[in-house]
Amino acid sequence: MKFTPAKPPLTGETLETLTARLRERGEPAFRAKQILEWVYKKRARSWDEMTNLAKPLRAWLADTFELMPLGLLFDKQSRDITDKLLFELGDRALIETVIIRAPQEGVGLDESRKTICISTQVGCAMACRFCASGLAGLKRDLNAGEIVAQLLHVCYREDAHDPRAHAGLATFDNIVVMGMGEPLANYDAVLRALTIVNAEWGLGFGARRITLSTSGLVPKILQLADEPLGFRLAISLHGATNEVREQIMPVNKAYPLEKLIPAIKTFTEKHGRMVTLEFILIEDMNDSLTQAAALREIALDLHAHVNLIPYNTVEGLPWKRPSGNRMERFADLLREARVPVTLRREKGHDIDAACGQLRLKTEKDREAMAAAG
Ligand code: SAH
Repeated sequence: MKFTPAKPPLTGETLETLTARLRERGEPAFRAKQILEWVYKKRARSWDEMTNLAKPLRAWLADTFELMPLGLLFDKQSRDITDKLLFELGDRALIETVIIRAPQEGVGLDESRKTICISTQVGCAMACRFCASGLAGLKRDLNAGEIVAQLLHVCYREDAHDPRAHAGLATFDNIVVMGMGEPLANYDAVLRALTIVNAEWGLGFGARRITLSTSGLVPKILQLADEPLGFRLAISLHGATNEVREQIMPVNKAYPLEKLIPAIKTFTEKHGRMVTLEFILIEDMNDSLTQAAALREIALDLHAHVNLIPYNTVEGLPWKRPSGNRMERFADLLREARVPVTLRREKGHDIDAACGQLRLKTEKDREAMAAAG
């Protein structure tokens, strides 16, 4: 399940590891910084652009590292709110990265705030019953370089119409680790990637603007609580009682609510930040007012924000989203108790925005093409 690329991606190197590699070649210590500046600040797309490096060094770099480990297969623009990028990796595996724009009054779409949703695994082992990503199980973990490269690629794409590019800054506003995969099941690579994204020699992107979303791996939530970088945390709850939650999320068997809730509390206490509880609303599964009341108690206990998400239908799965009225009533029960709640209206329907769906479709097309010879 592990993929070892012929050449490691440069985007997986830290200043420390790159400096060490270059020292072996007898290069001075400042060389690594120069190279990383080309990659992250000047967004060089080829080694030859790095003109302050001697040609033999550039040749060695090209032999040793992959500058960009992702090939863009598909750039699906909705011209609305959500754009989707489909990437092919070195072993032909597919991953998705999503750009979500939050339109602001009086501001064009290009200048609107951008949230980037990144993937951390190819497929997923969590097997949540409603999710497209888990349908075929886990294929493999992404390495740190493949995770960072998704964000760098978004910069390439957005730089042209974003003035922040001139200052070498990231051309997006928030990162949500909510794409394909369970980030806390690929902990080391994800942490390394986010450290690179955060570092001043990397993308220089603030940890407070990065949200990790987990299905609830309790030991890893506790580990994350002890990290020096203050990432935000979102929990995919989707069921406010064990009875409902374990029907749709197998992870609830190992980490039921009586284990999950104290872990979230520990995280909140260490970080002094509100955690977000994500709750997909699925018709006749978790959308009753009894569930709303149970969710209200959990949110009050945790001082958490609740994000209600209308379910996005997935081809081949029976689940549906409830009616607008029913969702509003669910939300009202929380609002009445002053729980901060948002009821997100999904806007990416036209481009298969739900997690893992574009990849699934492309995998199917590939199979069909292979079958047709
Ligand atoms: N494994 C992590 C992150 C990836 S899933 C986690 O579970 O949090 C990101 C979010 O999308 C999760 O809240 C997940 O439950 C939700 N999701 C998955 N399939 C969905 C669908 N069809 N409609 C709406 N949300 C979905």
